[in-house]
Amino acid sequence: MEPDHAQRIHVVTRILQANDRVAEENRKRFTSAHVRAINLISSPGAGKTSLLEATLSRLRGQKKAAVIVGDIATTRDAERIAPSGVPVVQIMTEAFGGSCHLEASTIRQALDQIELTGLDLLFIENVGNLVCPAEFDLGEQAKVAILSVTEGEDKPLKYPLAFRVADLVLLSKVDLVPHLRIDMDKLREHVRRVNPKARVIELSVETGAGMDDWMAWVMN
Ligand code: MG
Ligand code: ZN
Repeated sequence: MEPDHAQRIHVVTRILQANDRVAEENRKRFTSAHVRAINLISSPGAGKTSLLEATLSRLRGQKKAAVIVGDIATTRDAERIAPSGVPVVQIMTEAFGGSCHLEASTIRQALDQIELTGLDLLFIENVGNLVCPAEFDLGEQAKVAILSVTEGEDKPLKYPLAFRVADLVLLSKVDLVPHLRIDMDKLREHVRRVNPKARVIELSVETGAGMDDWMAWVMN
C-alpha cells in the first residue's frame, strides 16, 4: 500500500536529518584540514567535467586539489580528470542505492581514499541532475549551480532549489549564445529572481571567457 503523504514526509525528513549529521562531520574534517570543498551541481551535459579539466590545469603548481566524481554508472569522468594528475575518486551511485544524487555518507566513504592533509581544494562533481542533489548537504563549504545556455532561460524558475542553495551560479557555454534562441537578459533575471544574493559568472571553457573570474572565486 502507498504510504500516506504525512508518512512519506516523515521518512524524507528522517533521511535528511541523518544526512545533515554526517554532513556536519564531513564539514569539520574539511575545516580542520583547511580544505575548501566545492559541490558542483548541474543537469547532465552542462559542462562540469570540462570545467574541472580546465580548472585543474590552471591550478597546477598553485593549489593542491582533489576530485570526487559522482555518476550513476561508468568511470568516464574520472578517466577524463585523471590526466590532470590530481587524486580522483569515482563514485558509482548505482552501488549505493541512491543513484540520482550524492549523500554525505557517500562522501565520507570516498574520503577514506583521499588524504586531506596538505590539500587546498576538493571539488565534488555531483551526479548530473538539477533536482535532488540540491537537497543533500555534503558538508561542502560552497555550492555551485551550473546552467548551460543551451538549457534555456526558464530553468532557474523550473528547478529553483538548485539555484536558491547556490553560492555561485555559473552560466556555461556562453560561446554558443549567437547560435541559440536564448534571451540572456531573461536568464539573468530568472537567476536573480530565485537567488538575489548569488554571485553569477558567465563563462566558456572553449574561449576562456569568465575563467579568470571563476578561478579567482575558486582560490578566494
Ligand atoms: Mg561529468
Ligand atoms: Zn536523487
